[in-house]
Order: sequence, then structure tokens, then C-alpha cells
Amino acid sequence: MTQARIDVVEVLAEMVRIPSVEPTQAGEHAAEWGGEARMGRYVADFMERAGYRVEWQWVAEGRPNVICKGGAENPERIWLVEGHMDTVGVEGMRYPPFEGAVRDGRLWGRGAADCKGPLAAGMVACAGADLEELARKGEAIWFIGSMGEETGNNGARASLEVLPEWVWRTIALEPTEAAVVHASKGFAVLEVDIEGRSAHGSNPEVGLNAIYGAQVFTDRLRTLCEREGARYGSELTGRPSVNLGLIRGGIAANVVAPRCHLEFDWRTVPPETIGEVKEKIGALLESIKEEGVILGWEMRQQQNNEALWTSGDSGLVRELSAALQAAGLEGRKAGVRWCCDASIYCPRSDETVIFGPGSIRQGHATEEFIDVDELRRGTDGLGRLWPRRSS
Ligand SMILES: [Zn+2]
Repeated sequence: MTQARIDVVEVLAEMVRIPSVEPTQAGEHAAEWGGEARMGRYVADFMERAGYRVEWQWVAEGRPNVICKGGAENPERIWLVEGHMDTVGVEGMRYPPFEGAVRDGRLWGRGAADCKGPLAAGMVACAGADLEELARKGEAIWFIGSMGEETGNNGARASLEVLPEWVWRTIALEPTEAAVVHASKGFAVLEVDIEGRSAHGSNPEVGLNAIYGAQVFTDRLRTLCEREGARYGSELTGRPSVNLGLIRGGIAANVVAPRCHLEFDWRTVPPETIGEVKEKIGALLESIKEEGVILGWEMRQQQNNEALWTSGDSGLVRELSAALQAAGLEGRKAGVRWCCDASIYCPRSDETVIFGPGSIRQGHATEEFIDVDELRRGTDGLGRLWPRRSS
């Protein structure tokens, strides 16, 4: 199989015709449309034909990661190219979601932009690599089609178990309008339990009202976030933010509240890590305790997606940008405010970027499409990162 004979637009059309909807969003069609097993079969067959060794990692029933390895068997440097195979549901879509028709220079259907277009670009670009030449350089390409990105990045998290401790360069495939994204926000969901002291409502001064304590905490949390914004806010990713989304406390109107439970999400901005944010929030809670406003506190974390940060001057960013220019694209460097599987891989890679043709605005939308010219050029540009087999 040679690069010249594979048309990425045809590959993508075939992929759009294989539904791989996140099962919880497939409703009554879950058995027919849900999960990534059939999509995984397609990815595996395609990559096997291109000379890759394929391993299946079953993360949940009917829900695989497909791990395709080419190049050196014991590589000194690994290129990790990863894209997710799941899509969101199809409710309210204005056109047939699984037709993959090309009209007006666009390929239409669920997943065309998020994320089958970028995934197809990655597959075709990797299929064009000269794996023998790559092996001679001590390099390997590991291509992963992953499950479950749309609901907590479960596939990417699971794939860490089968990856070495460290990889060289990671390209997380997502629609970036073919920009080289080297910074993204991070995302943590935190829970805080505040402890007070109960008393009868007729005698509140004997108790310590946990709801009042929570009020002091939330005020200071927002102030902390503003201070962090002044320090870490950037043109690439905007400022950090916090959203208090849930609060539950107290027992009854005539009882001083002994407990209050809060849940919030905090969006970090690189280079600040979630660990650093948690330390600051912990210190804030501790100072409120020392002031006697609360009796105790506990903090737990539900989700951890680190912010992405790779220098705009790094080798990967410069090389990919130049490769895209050679393919007739702008090769723009950018940051984004959303997060994706790159958050899971960047703590274990020298250099990580997010890249793909297509726009995130079309992901999850009632009209989803990808520009076929951008798809072709993006595929061509990506494939210039490594030695190409002659066709
Ligand atoms: Zn996506």
C-alpha cells in the first residue's frame, strides 16, 4: 500500500459510515451504534495493511483501544499519535449522521470533525511513513485509536498502562483548524466538605455554622482565582476560572449546620499544575480553620486533566508548523481553552501538541462537517514529520 493510493477523504467517508457513538448517548440505538468495537476493527485492519503491529486493549465491554506500532521494536524515541474513536450522540442532527456525503467541498456527518477527520488524517499520515527508515533511526510510531474521550478520557487514561514511562513526542488528534496547539487549559473537579458544630437554632452562638463557613470559603476561592488569573492568564489560553456548581449543607432551619458539601471545577492555565492549585486551596481552607470560622475540612478530587504546555520554540512545534506550511497551510501556533486527551499524555511526553484538520465548533453540533481541502493538506503536512515511503 502506498501513500499515493490512499485518499484520506475516502477513508473518512468510510469511518463516518461506521457509527461509534458514546453508548450512553446512543439511546435506543446503543446496541447498533454504541461503542468503538467496529471502528476499532476498521482502524486495526487499515494500520495492519500499512505494516503496523496491532494490539487490542479492552477497556470496557465492546470498548477497545487499538494500539498500532510501527518502526523500531525497542525504540529510543517514540512518536505517539493518538485520536479518539467515539463520537457524541446524533440527536437533533439536520442531515443523515452516518452517510459521509461530500457536498460543497465538505464531508458531512457525525464525527467528521470530532474526531474521525483528525483520526483519519493521523492514520493516513502514519500509513505513509517509511517504517524501515524510521527503525534505522531508532524511532517508532505508536498510533492509538482510543475509546471514551467524550466521557472522561477513559481510553487515554487506560492506555498509560501499556505505554512506557516516557515518550518523546505526542500528537493528540483533535480538530484545531490545522493549527499547532501547544497550550491548553487543564481541568479539575474538586469536592470540599466543611465541618462545623451543631447547636439548636435558638442558641446559634454555641455552634459553628458550616454554611457560613462555606460562604467565607467560596468568597476567598473566587478571590484566589482572580489573583491566579493576574499571574497566569495568557493570550494563548485565557485566565484560570472556577465554577461552584453544587452546594449541599445543613439539616433543618432550626439547627446550626454541622456540615456543608461543595463541588466545583477549576480550569488551570499552564504552567500551573492542578497539584499547585490544590495546595493553594488547602492552605486557604486551613487559614479559615485557624481563624475559627470552621472546625475542619476535607478535599477530594474527581477528575484530573492537566493543562498542556509545550514551548512554542520546541522542535515538535517548529517542525510541524514548517511541515504544514510546506503542505500549503498557515502552520499557525495557537492555544485553546478546551481540554482533550493531550492532558493525559503531556505529563509523560517531552513534547505534546494537539493537531487536526476541522473545527471544534462543528464537534457536538447539529451540523457537523469537515473541509476536504483542509483535511487533505493537514494529512499531507502531518505525514511530512517522518520519512515517507516512496510511492
Ligand atoms: Zn474530540
